[in-house]
Amino acid sequence: MTKSNQDWAKRVEQIAHTRLNDCYQCGKCTAGCPRGDVMDMPPTRIMRATQTGDILGAARAASIWRCLSCLTCSARCPKSVEVASVIDALRQISIETNTFSDESLKVVDFQKAFLRSVRRNGRTNETEMATDFEARYFFKRFDVCNVVRLGLLAPKMVVRGKMHFKLGSPVKDKALVKRIFDKCGVEL
Ligand code: SF4
Ligand code: SF4
Repeated sequence: MTKSNQDWAKRVEQIAHTRLNDCYQCGKCTAGCPRGDVMDMPPTRIMRATQTGDILGAARAASIWRCLSCLTCSARCPKSVEVASVIDALRQISIETNTFSDESLKVVDFQKAFLRSVRRNGRTNETEMATDFEARYFFKRFDVCNVVRLGLLAPKMVVRGKMHFKLGSPVKDKALVKRIFDKCGVEL
């Protein structure tokens, strides 16, 4: 059964724990957003789209993958709307419905590689994460430049102690990490 606009809006409210209609379009969230200048749909417009039921339109915006999750928008909102959580909810819906824009594919693949590494180890392992990301992204796009770029970056990261070759090194309580991922139920 296909979801109505109202169902989608309810879903966003449930995930984000906020009320979409509380937003009165004052624009403060966009004014304080450090990424506002590169967003095709700034936070205020994202909020408006969700209010009018255009959830999938908002989930398709490149903005939701350009957001830094810095929470400035949520902190500045005079109506206490959890704008950053709304954007998180849209990311989740975007992945579930495969509605992300073509240009966002790289960011989506990187985020998935990051989360898979955390799911496996309870923390990130840079080498494992980079290999996972490159392998999957390369076979979708055959982006040789990206592989070369990472190859050139890796030695610099190793010298600065930002990249470790030890695979795994998981946290002690992996069962707890598994429970968190099971509860979120996001397919990776
Ligand atoms: S700051 Fe709050 S009320 Fe103002 S536009 Fe943004 S979400 Fe809406
Ligand atoms: S959380 Fe995202 S949308 Fe909100 S202010 Fe930060 S970068 Fe902008």
